[in-house]
Amino acid sequence: MATNIDGGTLMLESRLACPQCGHLSVEVMPTDACVFFHECAACGALLKPKPGDCCVFCSYGSVPCPPMQRQGRSCCGG
Ligand SMILES: [Zn+2]
Repeated sequence: MATNIDGGTLMLESRLACPQCGHLSVEVMPTDACVFFHECAACGALLKPKPGDCCVFCSYGSVPCPPMQRQGRSCCGG
């Protein structure tokens, strides 16, 4: 294994796309936690992870959450 992903290469900004209105919001992801819920700033929709995804970033973001980037697996044992 020659995977060298460390703090320098993790993407911490993700663009969340609201499934209801398509509004894009750039959010900074926590490096070691899941974000289950995100409220759309435009329409107020509550975003929740799709089945099988660990957080809203993996479902709706342009970049998967840091634990997925780092370990290739979800941050909450799923
Ligand atoms: Zn929305």
